[in-house]
Amino acid sequence: MVLGQYGKRSEILKISNHHIKKESIDKDAQSVIYKLHEGGFEAFIVGGFVRDSLLGLKPKDCDVVTNATPEEIKNIVPRTRIIGRRFKIVHARSGRNITEISTFRSSDQKATKKSSKGILLRDNNYGTIEDDAFRRDFTINSLYLNLKNMEIIDFVGGFKDLRHKILRSIGDSGQRFREDPVRILRAIRFKSKLGLTLENKLEKDITKLSYLLSEISSGRRYEETLKMFLTGNAESIMSEMQLYKTTEYLLPQTKGYLSAKKERKLIYNALRNTDKRFHENKTLTPSFLFSVLLWPALKNKIGELNSKKVKIPKISRAANIVLQRHNEHCFIPNRIQKSIKETWEMQIMLLRIPEKSKITLKHPRFRAAYDFLLLREKSGENLGGAGDWWTKKITR
Ligand code: ATP
Ligand code: MG
Repeated sequence: MVLGQYGKRSEILKISNHHIKKESIDKDAQSVIYKLHEGGFEAFIVGGFVRDSLLGLKPKDCDVVTNATPEEIKNIVPRTRIIGRRFKIVHARSGRNITEISTFRSSDQKATKKSSKGILLRDNNYGTIEDDAFRRDFTINSLYLNLKNMEIIDFVGGFKDLRHKILRSIGDSGQRFREDPVRILRAIRFKSKLGLTLENKLEKDITKLSYLLSEISSGRRYEETLKMFLTGNAESIMSEMQLYKTTEYLLPQTKGYLSAKKERKLIYNALRNTDKRFHENKTLTPSFLFSVLLWPALKNKIGELNSKKVKIPKISRAANIVLQRHNEHCFIPNRIQKSIKETWEMQIMLLRIPEKSKITLKHPRFRAAYDFLLLREKSGENLGGAGDWWTKKITR
């Protein structure tokens, strides 16, 4: 490693000292970067792509950062849209692929807007690459890959932490969590995903400040829940969330059931299966996830749900109550709520064998409801062999 043109504090990892190949970089991200270079701007790849590639893992996406402002990016890169208010970024679309482009930001305290509790409300104060490096969350997320020479620039000690697999906050973790409590959830997610050790103070601050999670907007909470549970590490993330006592902020109605043997088994079986499907590149739906996570609360409202006598309107009413309560904390989009309700209602329809089986098979929610039924049986519920009956019916 050598000191580079980016100032005394920077370290450069030369192309000969890492194994990231240009071919592994998403073509759309490359083309965005070349467009910005042609326009006379600087542009780098930062964040998860560099971190995961250096660890030898398959990165999820490719985030681009530049000294061009969102408006300048929009003028240079085709098919772009500026999104966000609190934190303006640009989305460049190519087919179904979206490349996220952000502008170097500075954490200049005077220019950022904070709430009375210290939460960042607006952060559109632009700066240099070095300023940008220090406003990112963790050292390992602040490595910049330069496509011109394939060098990686580090201002914050990220290389060292990555080598030792340590998650370290940039600046005081308490202050950084107060500015944006989502960073607490991100820390838990990266710990699980990358098998990291949390730096001492950071770990203590997670426990000490987890109550700040109640300050996160309900929309952002929903997005973060999906990132926690639909990206291949759901089982371990749920354990970590229990360890750090953060479950109650994302899933207040699930928390109490994680210590009940039957419910815990159902939830962990589902999460294990979700991880397996993720690694097999199979589809994952938010509605199935929430059907499982909120099922114990629904059951608690209705009593036993393995009787054919339970009427569907009764389930619908209980479902509305459970979903409404969940939405107060974490807003699930309406169409997802509808699917969750249907998956639950169909649990009763699937017990009414064989009456109306033709209609049931054609129901758009049949597959999810059937998978859910099998999951319940696998987790120890006696449903009178309904799962087997439907398995025979669909394989016949
Ligand atoms: P992955 O995409 O694999 O989940 P990531 O680290 O790339 O991980 P993104 O949400 O794509 O996560 O964010 C890209 C980068 O933006 C991060 O690596 C980090 O540098 C910065 N970042 C994201 N969220 C925050 C935040 N809440 N506070 C500070 N920096 C953040
Ligand atoms: Mg990313």
